[in-house]
Amino acid sequence: MSGRPLPGRLLLFWDYDTQWGADRSRSGGGQKEWGPDEFVNTDRLLTMLDQYRVPSCFAVVAAAARPGLRPYHDPEQIRAIHAAGHEVGCHSLHHDWLPALSPSQLHDNLSRSRELLEGCIGAAVCTFVPPYNQPFHYPGALSFSRSERNEAGPNHLGFSALCRALAVTGYRFCRAAYRPMPQRIMEALLRRSCDSPGTIKNIEGVSCLRLNAGCGFTDHAINMVRRCARDGGYAVLYGHPHSLSVDGPQSFAHLVRVLAVVRDLVNQKQLQVVRPSEIAVPPQAGVGEVAHARS
Ligand SMILES: [Zn+2]
Repeated sequence: MSGRPLPGRLLLFWDYDTQWGADRSRSGGGQKEWGPDEFVNTDRLLTMLDQYRVPSCFAVVAAAARPGLRPYHDPEQIRAIHAAGHEVGCHSLHHDWLPALSPSQLHDNLSRSRELLEGCIGAAVCTFVPPYNQPFHYPGALSFSRSERNEAGPNHLGFSALCRALAVTGYRFCRAAYRPMPQRIMEALLRRSCDSPGTIKNIEGVSCLRLNAGCGFTDHAINMVRRCARDGGYAVLYGHPHSLSVDGPQSFAHLVRVLAVVRDLVNQKQLQVVRPSEIAVPPQAGVGEVAHARS
């Protein structure tokens, strides 16, 4: 059999942290003040994504959807993201570190944030992106996190418990970042990334795809997109709007190169750009409806 594989697919995520995420930064180095950049850069980003006709998913910290002022709030911009054809996903209520949450705190966080975002855009929200890409701990795929256990204790939240909670609170898709131990060992031995085109995994009733091109838009991301176009499978890319104006792997300059490659491959029908809601498990009856219609 030598049939051509199905066209590769790309998912592009934007982690829309706002000042809520800046205040909870875990990277050290003191207070972060990049909250305002999230909004300014998002305006420019929306124009660029429209130019290249690349739909993406913005994972929004739900508290930003409440009425109020930048750098913490901008419900109008969140509605503009939705109106431009991008998916609005959820990035927790206040950019919370999930491994430390109890089951009831998690349930409350997921439900309230979905309701807030749905109330803001007047449409269903079914995609979740965990802040800090954690939990990494997922024994089902031989992924273990000693640091999560050390910091959050033996009852820390793992990835399968997160997916269970997502399913009961109406989510259907979760971006994942766990790394199986065999891959980590291989990467340590070879001293290079061993990422490969992604496949969707159903975990506890939620469709999950792992990041496979690091953070940003360097050659690693371009190579993964090209590889998926050639061999099939999913390229899962992400960046932060606030980092687009900083010299680094997430810069506007790097992004433009990726968008140009994506546009070419789409024009050649070798790549499809999809939003997570299009590939997630179908909604269950009575779950995932818009919780609060805008009045
Ligand atoms: Zn984030």
